[in-house]
Amino acid sequence: MTACEVCGGEGSPLDYAGLRRCAACSHVWADLSIETEAIHRLYQRSYFFGDEYSNYLEDRRIIEKNFAGRLTTLRRFITSSHRRLFEVGCAYGFFLNAARESFASVQGIDVSEDAVRFASQELGLNVSCGDWLNADLSGQVFDVVCLWDTIEHLAAPRRYLEKASACMPPGSLMAITTGDIGSLNARLQKGRWRLIHPPTHLHYFTRRSLTRLLEGCGFRIVHVEYCGVYRSVRGMVHNLVSLGWQWPRVGAWLMRVVPPRLDAYVNLQDIMYIVAERR
Ligand SMILES: [Zn+2]
Repeated sequence: MTACEVCGGEGSPLDYAGLRRCAACSHVWADLSIETEAIHRLYQRSYFFGDEYSNYLEDRRIIEKNFAGRLTTLRRFITSSHRRLFEVGCAYGFFLNAARESFASVQGIDVSEDAVRFASQELGLNVSCGDWLNADLSGQVFDVVCLWDTIEHLAAPRRYLEKASACMPPGSLMAITTGDIGSLNARLQKGRWRLIHPPTHLHYFTRRSLTRLLEGCGFRIVHVEYCGVYRSVRGMVHNLVSLGWQWPRVGAWLMRVVPPRLDAYVNLQDIMYIVAERR
């Protein structure tokens, strides 16, 4: 991928992680070509149990707590005309499950068979397995489309937004969260920024480049904030110890004394939450 997804400009190599940056619009992407099938294979069971997440279902309480926060923000923009919600990249359905009470209908799609089976069978959600670009929507329209921490995983985000735009009436809402590679934290951390993660993370937006892409797909930005996440304190200690923390006995002691439901809210001001309205 040598041409910029946002503006078609040419990218020049960054000095880390095999990334390219567009001088014209500030967008950054992973300079690799990867087949759609290979992308889908990244998101099967091991992604949620061992690779990216240690155990997605065990983390359900904290994931739901984070989705509750995102739903609270989204609801500030919801009116009675926003009735049908669709989530691209719905994983195990925890967001849809939280949102179902606020909308007349909620639907989702994900490439992970394991996740979709859970969302469908355990949560009774209307979800399908596959790639949104190939999904037959049969003329359906949606008033709210959400991509939570998903757009950075897509090989061709513009085509996803265009497809969404085509089935969203004027006044409908698009909600997106993704890292901001133009944030202070990302600029300080450079190649060590925790969200630099090819080949799962292929696109790295800035506030400017994501705004430009959305505007080019028929949206106008109505809200931008930088959102944090709740993390389990025990989970953070566990990660530190497994990364070879220099005080393993302190870690073992903390794992005994820290209550399992003690969470810390972490906001490094580098995750954008954007709400855009279909023009
Ligand atoms: Zn560009």
